[in-house]
Amino acid sequence: MDLFEYQAKKLFAEHGVPVPTGKTATTPEEARAIATELGGKVVVKAQVKAGGRGKAGGVKVADGPDDAFAKATAILGMDIKGHTVHSVLVEEASNIAEEYYASFLLDRANRTFLAMASREGGMEIEEVAATNPDALARIAIDPLTGVDAAKAREIAVAAKLPEAALAGAAELLVKLWTVFVKSDATLVEVNPLILTADGRVIALDGKVSLDENADFRHPENAAFVDVSAVDPLEQKAKEKGLNYVKLEGEVGIIGNGAGLVMSTLDVVTYAGEEFGGKRPANFLDIGGGASAEVMANGLSIILGDPSVKSVFVNIFGGITSCDAVANGIVQALKIVGDVTTPLVVRLDGNNAEEGRRILKEANLSVVKPVDTMDGAAKLAAELAAAAA
Ligand code: GDP
Ligand code: MN
Repeated sequence: MDLFEYQAKKLFAEHGVPVPTGKTATTPEEARAIATELGGKVVVKAQVKAGGRGKAGGVKVADGPDDAFAKATAILGMDIKGHTVHSVLVEEASNIAEEYYASFLLDRANRTFLAMASREGGMEIEEVAATNPDALARIAIDPLTGVDAAKAREIAVAAKLPEAALAGAAELLVKLWTVFVKSDATLVEVNPLILTADGRVIALDGKVSLDENADFRHPENAAFVDVSAVDPLEQKAKEKGLNYVKLEGEVGIIGNGAGLVMSTLDVVTYAGEEFGGKRPANFLDIGGGASAEVMANGLSIILGDPSVKSVFVNIFGGITSCDAVANGIVQALKIVGDVTTPLVVRLDGNNAEEGRRILKEANLSVVKPVDTMDGAAKLAAELAAAAA
């Protein structure tokens, strides 16, 4: 999960990384009130999960409260790289002497952590890496020893930071490493890290990506979730413990096993070309088990998506045999009730014959059994096209 700048800075502050004082506003009036409270010059910053806000006009310095009102009016509602600005961060303005770059990240290729730092900050770091690679220091971090004062100084020196910034930067880097470790991040990035005119080193921007696999250790992370950006069906699926991802198409997909579901998406996309480009509406892996309850939960989420015109249930029986799945489907349809969307069902593998017999015997008009995966994909696409 990526955080907004204001959330990243909150984490920074909690671990002692110096950041400018500020608050978020969702209206120009609020921005004016915050500016009044802070006094002096402020900076008004668009809160969107995209870089390059400065270049896009989403970061503006304001002289005082009325100017903060005007700048917030201009920035709120703006579109930055497809993200609408719903809130702004209003901070005390900093007097910048120099801009640097610093980050810690997971280095998958080398199976370790990596510090990156540069005297060239402010602009996109990819640009520095491409045009002036020598200006970007890369230092591997041993996860067992981490970043102590000596390591932090080594990073700052490798980045060729000037003498005036070395001590402040090293101190900040030690604390930034604590943020990285304690919050189970895969990335913490400060761009720019600045040296102020009065000689302090502070984090002027912040980007943090958290490792969702560690969410169980961080109940506090729930507060970071951007509810306005969460798909309601995905939210419901998460509550039911289902692996569901919403996609753009019309053919609902249920399968057992992530690999089978992935290949089902491919087969449906391919078959759909013949029917005006019908595509999968979702990814849903019901895993092992496939009980009536899991099947009912999956079906109700998929059928809750108004763009779904047909559903393809693709099961390869293994430990869970096809007769159990067939009974699950029959009961699930009773639980969900009033299903009119056609369900193309392909059962193969363990006890497939028995499963097919159960479906046939149940004689449900919405269930269309097909024996092969390709045939089922074709029928599901065809039915979706016919319903449109
Ligand atoms: P980004 O463009 O999305 O990365 O947003 P940043 O937070 O990095 O801001 C972009 C640029 O705005 C920075 O590199 C600074 O040059 C400038 N900026 C941000 N805050 C201040 C401030 O308090 N004072 C001044 N003078 N410039 C600022
Ligand atoms: Mn930045």
